[in-house]
Amino acid sequence: MTTQETGTGKKRHFLSFWTGMKLWQQIFIGLIAGLIVGAILGPSAAAIKPIGTVFINLIKMLIVPLIFVSLVCGVTAMHDANKMGRIALKTIVIYLMTTAVAITIGLGLGTLLQPGAGIDITAASTVEAREAPTLVDTLIGLFPTNPIAAMANGSVLQIIVFAILFGIAINLAGEAGAKIRQFFEWMAEVIYKLTGVIVALAPYGVFALMAWVAGTYGMDVLLPLGMVILAVYLGCVIHAIVVYGGAISLVAKLNPIRYFQGIAEAQAVAFTTTSSSGTLPVTMSCTQKNLGVSRGVSSFVLPLGATINMDGTALYQGVCALFVAQAFGISLGFDQYVTIILTATLASIGTAGVPGAGLIMLSLVLTSVGLPLEGVAIIAGIDRILDMARTALNVTGDGMVSVVVAKSEGELDEATYGRPHVLGAEDGAEEAAAH
Ligand code: ASP
Repeated sequence: MTTQETGTGKKRHFLSFWTGMKLWQQIFIGLIAGLIVGAILGPSAAAIKPIGTVFINLIKMLIVPLIFVSLVCGVTAMHDANKMGRIALKTIVIYLMTTAVAITIGLGLGTLLQPGAGIDITAASTVEAREAPTLVDTLIGLFPTNPIAAMANGSVLQIIVFAILFGIAINLAGEAGAKIRQFFEWMAEVIYKLTGVIVALAPYGVFALMAWVAGTYGMDVLLPLGMVILAVYLGCVIHAIVVYGGAISLVAKLNPIRYFQGIAEAQAVAFTTTSSSGTLPVTMSCTQKNLGVSRGVSSFVLPLGATINMDGTALYQGVCALFVAQAFGISLGFDQYVTIILTATLASIGTAGVPGAGLIMLSLVLTSVGLPLEGVAIIAGIDRILDMARTALNVTGDGMVSVVVAKSEGELDEATYGRPHVLGAEDGAEEAAAH
């Protein structure tokens, strides 16, 4: 097959009016067009919904291979056992801690801003809240007795646990492991391509879902969705400044402003591509060239982060879970908040750094506390906008951890870190643009 050059940029051939337009622009048009069509058609716009359902199904189709393969690759990204073991521990601990904080901020803002208040979807939809599993059940349920069954059932957390163990085993298996590792890296390439193809259908899926939502629920749903957007963006800014800025200045004892300057290119790429994996090369070059992180640390911490560190995604899930609960008139107890924190933290590990992956994971978080999955379809209409912010936060977090870990390991070139630089500027233009 001649997929070589057709992967990302050239597969809009089937509808020429999209030609030259970026995917995010297409999706945005789909969103607005869906909104308008839904508003005009009213409830009969539900006839368009199957297109959206097919799109969601296709995305769901990716979940098992995508998580398994990218997580195995994340684990096998650590080669040298001793130092890597220590760096891995630090990295993973910081990743998990910041993610738990992120979702707590998300839940806090979801409680404070009440994005789902004022709409009552229960009346329009006959969805029953599901029985919530207990925390202990959730923990026990992490461990699969049969990994193939876990994959067949789409038990994401079990797949995550198996993938981590499998990845560790690959690392331990010497020459045979090296071959399998290479296989998984190739596999990951292919799966990312497939993801790209499916994500290219997003404008149509979003159009259909948006038309359905607007037609069925009208503007009543969209104003609260504005609050979801506000809550997620606000949360991302707060998390970046407080948690990342705090970690850089208090833990690494470095100037946080320099950090944000140094990572900004990666943020911009992440914001527009909504893929931490796609942004990885830029994140790497930012941390190495702008921030002085050693190659060794950045090439381990960042690929791992692109796969397992998803603070923005976790924060978004916190906001969205509360939005759905409020919109469907379901109240959540303390236990359920804890379950959301735990599930979203673990789910963020398994969220591949590709566009829209967090939306898939949202269904897991909603299910974990018995919230109706119809919420995912409502969020889907604005997911691109949310994805931009959360992906930018995701890569900002990856970069922060690489700096903190590098500093603690004596792998940070502080002269490079402290050097004033200008984002994206060509060498010659640097002086001119400074300040
Ligand atoms: N798009 C995000 C990322 O690549 C993942 C997500 O959908 O939350 O980091």
